[in-house]
Amino acid sequence: MILIVDDTPENLISLKKVLEKYDFEVDTASSGEEALKKVLKNSYVLIILDVQMPGMDGFEVAEAISGYSKAKETAIIFLSAANTEFKFIAKGYSSGGLDYITKPVDMNILLLKVQTFYRIYEQSRKLNEMQKTLLEEIEFRKEAERKKDEFISIASHELKTPLTSVKGYVQLLERSINKGDTDTIRKHLGKAQVQLEKLNSLIADLLDISKIESGKLKFNKQDFSLDQLLDNVIEVMHQSNPEFKINKKGYAKCDIYGDEMRIEQVIINFLTNAMKYSPGTDEINLTVNVKDNELYLAVKDSGIGMSPEQQKNVFEKFYRVEETSQRFQGLGIGLYIASEIIKRHGGQIGVNSSYGEGSEFYFIMPTNLSTEV
Ligand code: ADP
Repeated sequence: MILIVDDTPENLISLKKVLEKYDFEVDTASSGEEALKKVLKNSYVLIILDVQMPGMDGFEVAEAISGYSKAKETAIIFLSAANTEFKFIAKGYSSGGLDYITKPVDMNILLLKVQTFYRIYEQSRKLNEMQKTLLEEIEFRKEAERKKDEFISIASHELKTPLTSVKGYVQLLERSINKGDTDTIRKHLGKAQVQLEKLNSLIADLLDISKIESGKLKFNKQDFSLDQLLDNVIEVMHQSNPEFKINKKGYAKCDIYGDEMRIEQVIINFLTNAMKYSPGTDEINLTVNVKDNELYLAVKDSGIGMSPEQQKNVFEKFYRVEETSQRFQGLGIGLYIASEIIKRHGGQIGVNSSYGEGSEFYFIMPTNLSTEV
């Protein structure tokens, strides 16, 4: 928008008419004081400012405006009937003006100038936008780099923990073998095996991440019995976590078309998290049903729960709830992989949770989608 400031009403009207004829949006002020008020309220691309006005003259107005952050980008053209001496023109430029036109105004010249200022303004606006986008992109890189570094340090730590345990059990085994103590040997072997399993699943998750990144996560889809899969999973989970009771409600009662191992991985991730993030509790509910060729599976715990903000991010790569990240071990990639698996089965993954009261993770997927997603 252009602001014309002139104390002579005829000048205001005639300038306004010409500019509006060329589709410029125009506002007017009949004194320096009124102009300052308007500049505070509105954004102008250009101000055409009469120099000789009672009260504040044009130079004073320009000086005051140059102090407003809002008008930083605003161009000023002075209009002056007299004072064409060089020192006045110089004063105009030094008080923030970008151009100086003497009256009587040649409308063609003024229009050319207005159009040029508009073009410059548009270009500088675009440049500013580009600069902003570039800065944001740089920040986003930087942020990705920081997350990667943090992830490498957590991953190394997570891998080192079971590895150190295995090393310890192997040393103990050596001693027990020397003593010929078979019971203890069996116990240590069992414990080493649990730690090796942990190591294996951590490495498998890391490999999955790199497969997802490179688009190489492949699925081997065929019909399988979900009810049988659930029975097996519940039995295995119960063996390694006997303190938890998993209450299963419902049946699929039909075959599901999908990658059995990958769907199992999602369910194990839900159950493992439900146990990990629910200290002091001993029950988990697993609900399953199939309706209208759609499978619904949910795992509900009564653990620490999550705030709405945390729920929004929980399927993001590397996301871990900050306030509990020290208390519970993890890499923050299990749910990201799970969501990728469900998406690639044409389904949806989600969570309902209340902070301090527990969480319910669920997925919905078609039971017979045969096309590759
Ligand atoms: P990890 O558990 O290895 O950190 P996940 O991707 O499985 O990674 O989970 C991401 C984050 O979501 C966890 O760090 C935790 O903060 C939160 N979370 C996952 N499951 C639950 C749950 N059942 N209850 C509360 N918070 C959970």
